[in-house]
Amino acid sequence: MSAGVEAADVLRLSKEFFDRTVAPNAAAWDHAQDMDEKIAGLLGAQGLLVPSLPEQAGGRGFDMDVLGRFNEQAGRACGSVRNLIGVQGMVAHALQRWAKPPLRDRWVPRLAAGEVYGSFALTEPHSGSDARAAATVAERRGGSVVLNGEKSWISFAARAGVFLVFARLEGHVAAILVERDTPGVHVTPQGDLLGLRASHLAAIRFDGCEVPAEHVVAQGPLAFDAVATAALDHGRFSTAWGSVGLAAACLDASLERAATRQQFGTPIGDHQLVARMITRMVCAVDSARMQCEAAARARDSSDRDAVRRTLIAKYVASENAFAVASDAVQMHGAYGCSAQSSVERHLRDAKIQCVIEGTSQIQETQIGQLTLTSWRAAQRRAEALAPSQNGR
Ligand SMILES: Cc1cc2nc3c(=O)[nH]c(=O)nc-3n(C[C@H](O)[C@H](O)[C@H](O)COP(=O)(O)OP(=O)(O)OC[C@H]3O[C@@H](n4cnc5c(N)ncnc54)[C@H](O)[C@@H]3O)c2cc1C
Repeated sequence: MSAGVEAADVLRLSKEFFDRTVAPNAAAWDHAQDMDEKIAGLLGAQGLLVPSLPEQAGGRGFDMDVLGRFNEQAGRACGSVRNLIGVQGMVAHALQRWAKPPLRDRWVPRLAAGEVYGSFALTEPHSGSDARAAATVAERRGGSVVLNGEKSWISFAARAGVFLVFARLEGHVAAILVERDTPGVHVTPQGDLLGLRASHLAAIRFDGCEVPAEHVVAQGPLAFDAVATAALDHGRFSTAWGSVGLAAACLDASLERAATRQQFGTPIGDHQLVARMITRMVCAVDSARMQCEAAARARDSSDRDAVRRTLIAKYVASENAFAVASDAVQMHGAYGCSAQSSVERHLRDAKIQCVIEGTSQIQETQIGQLTLTSWRAAQRRAEALAPSQNGR
């Protein structure tokens, strides 16, 4: 679906949903560390839980521009709901693209409908940024695969019905789908996080957990890049736009505060140093949104630069969101430091955006390396096209 009339209608519908059903509950869910279980099903019933899937798979066929704006709406309302949309999309798209038809057809429609939560289980206690060093192992046994190992900090694992697990199989990291009720699966909730507190994080231990060999979604030397890297790319795009939404919500709250809070006989926005904070916030929100739009354009046109553009968008948007949320708390004073304000929650959630789907430091490394690689390739192309010096 392109950004035409139909897309505008769907985005109006989704905005209404986030404004009425999600935003007013976000603080309570954060406090209770427990999102209303019905949210996934309510989104799924409208094709909005994984809206970038084709309609026949339970989505809305959103193109990247519309998907981005949808994630911005979600991020504005509630970080954990935005995280749910991101993670569910990572798992559903990976299965849609790589799983064999029986496995794909069994799980993708249920994930899209929100009948079941999916988790993307990559991180382990001893491998986070260095995800390829995963120590969870899988061994073939007859027509089965047996998993042993542990994953940690996995979003929605405390609720998930299926886990897309990355484990070492025959020398390479493979992607394997594990159903929650498989014997040998042990889930331990991990609560009391700084932010995204309604994301039902958990550790998962696999103790001789045996799954049918058909549950191996991808294996071999290219499996990690094909499945994990592509899913993380999808997750980053969602996180980037969600961060824009979070920052925009902080800006809105701060504008209202600047106009209504009086100190020294005048609204605080009249003080130049407060106006400067507004300037910084507006510039940070707008520049992050521009990076996200550039990433959406690159992805929609299958540009070879799309991965790097998405990395830049996620890096800029998450770091900007943290800076904007910090200024928003500052502008709200003591009230902003309390859970009565929305900006306090946004600041905690913003820090998490700089850690998930690759930390800011990993992105700084990757963006630099990819930029240099494409510069070198462009140089080589230019040299190949230039008339030879000797031939003159
Ligand atoms: C709320 C939340 C939800 C999450 N959900 C999921 C999920 O659904 N699935 C999943 O698999 N994981 C999930 N994670 C885990 C997340 O992906 C990892 O936390 C992240 O990849 C970083 O790994 P780490 O925590 O082990 O940090 P580490 O890798 O130990 O990094 C620690 C610090 O060292 C820096 N660092 C590490 N290596 C380098 C380097 N080469 N150069 C420069 N700096 C470096 C990092 O940037 C960071 O500042 C979640 C985490 C959180 C907080």
